[in-house]
Amino acid sequence: MDTDVIIVGAGHNGLVAAAYLAQAGLRVDLFERRAFTGGSAITEELWPGFKFSTCAHMTHAIHPKIIRDLRLTERGLAMCTREGGLRLCADGTYYGPEDHDSPRNLATEGRLTAEEQEGARRYGEFKRTLNDTFAPYRLGPPPTLEAVRAKVAGTPAAEVLEQALTTRIRGLHEVFLPSEFLKEKYAGEGAAVGRNPLGLHLAYSSINRPEEGTGEEPPYGYPSGGMGVVSRVMEEAAEEAGARVHVSRGVDRFLVEEGQVVGVRLEDGSEVRSRVVVSNLDPKRTFLKLLAPEHVEGGLRRRIEGLITHVSCYKFLAVISELPRWKAWDGDPDRPPQGSVVLGHSRAGIDAAYDDLEGGRAPEAPVVSFSIPSFTDPSLTQPGYHTASIWIYPAPARLREGTWDEVREGVAERLIDQITAYAPNFRGSIRDYRLRTPLDLERENGLTDGCIWHVQHAGEHLFWNRPLPELAAYRAPLKGLYLCGAGQHPGGEVSGIPGHNAAQEILKDM
Ligand SMILES: Cc1cc2nc3c(=O)[nH]c(=O)nc-3n(C[C@H](O)[C@H](O)[C@H](O)COP(=O)(O)OP(=O)(O)OC[C@H]3O[C@@H](n4cnc5c(N)ncnc54)[C@H](O)[C@@H]3O)c2cc1C
Repeated sequence: MDTDVIIVGAGHNGLVAAAYLAQAGLRVDLFERRAFTGGSAITEELWPGFKFSTCAHMTHAIHPKIIRDLRLTERGLAMCTREGGLRLCADGTYYGPEDHDSPRNLATEGRLTAEEQEGARRYGEFKRTLNDTFAPYRLGPPPTLEAVRAKVAGTPAAEVLEQALTTRIRGLHEVFLPSEFLKEKYAGEGAAVGRNPLGLHLAYSSINRPEEGTGEEPPYGYPSGGMGVVSRVMEEAAEEAGARVHVSRGVDRFLVEEGQVVGVRLEDGSEVRSRVVVSNLDPKRTFLKLLAPEHVEGGLRRRIEGLITHVSCYKFLAVISELPRWKAWDGDPDRPPQGSVVLGHSRAGIDAAYDDLEGGRAPEAPVVSFSIPSFTDPSLTQPGYHTASIWIYPAPARLREGTWDEVREGVAERLIDQITAYAPNFRGSIRDYRLRTPLDLERENGLTDGCIWHVQHAGEHLFWNRPLPELAAYRAPLKGLYLCGAGQHPGGEVSGIPGHNAAQEILKDM
């Protein structure tokens, strides 16, 4: 046996799993395909002096226990807190800070009738109850549906749970929100994962809840130095505990003997043997690429092929010489909102974007979420410039005609036009830019279909079904193979929780 544990992939979840397993005294070896670790939690210097979190750019869910156990704060994890943002509408109105008094601001309390206020309050209560129900299940294998039903039986949460299991988000809007105005206000809920996701999707926000017992909140904002710092401090914890990290060493296959995974074959042809193998890759990659077909039973193979991964996004990263002057923003022009500025969140706009996605076209007018991390973290930029980090969704994994490489320039130009319609100085302020398409996310970051959460956070693929009932407890049907990536409970985002939970299950078994 060459080692005790092989971890395939050094995304942040692989690094967290490595740290816990090495701290428990096991010999741990991580094999990462790229020349650097971090997966989708990375900082890259795209142009000299300009650093970008080229995938995830903010954190809201790293569990406080993981921060303490791995001493991430002592190692340098610090946050640049960002304030709330704006949502701009095409007609020049916006949803801004509730206390910003302006006829254009649709978010002020005074705009709502008493009936609307009551509807919004009841909907907020519904979501709070749903998230309270699920938050205690973060640190461990997901509960069964029966266990959750038993826990809430006889309480108001029982009805909330059943409603979330049977009603789509727009159906919930019909039930709770008494006006078109309110339905429009909430139009963007779940829009990054699907046209109209199942209500259970809303329970995913339970990962942001304060820790049970201590009440400690997961840190929220941009990590100082970019997302790569999160992975760096996790890697430091893993290496300090004795884990060995091997970069530029992709894994080609799992080695299977007598129905048990016993190691890996690397892309260079060499083989490494271990007591267990842990995959940080998405389930499609794990089961359809790294295992030979004869090792994945036909029914399971078909269910894995059917996992929802086709809804992707793109990322537009730019060096800009001035802050965008949002036409609609009538607050201090030199102090635009520091959170995301979102364009195009109307119900009709989201429907049109999903029509495009389902037709295999790059959406004409996708949702644009515009952030400027350098506003609160000047270490990312050079004097006189800012870094813009723009997340755009939805986008189809594959185009019906042509490839993302062929349409890249046209898509970028259209996007610049879309943003410039809201901020006339935007086009002229761009010094350099890069558009990262779903194909780039697949090719460079190793994400099947460019699905940023490995498997969509659709209600169908959460909790007891993440990613499938038979794979929901961090164990594969083949002995010796474990799963620790974002495709596992509680899901994607930079939380470290799947890595933590997988490590605990492996330690139980070993
Ligand atoms: C564009 C984008 C924007 C996002 N925005 C946010 C955000 O703002 N906030 C947030 O919290 N989350 C965000 N996310 C989601 C979040 O980044 C991911 O869900 C999370 O980082 C996944 O972590 P992971 O460790 O599970 O997997 P990954 O980060 O996917 O790591 C998997 C690793 O496996 C490696 N690998 C793949 N194949 C092989 C192989 N054959 N051999 C060896 N290694 C291999 C990959 O190179 C990668 O390093 C975003 C993601 C993307 C892509």
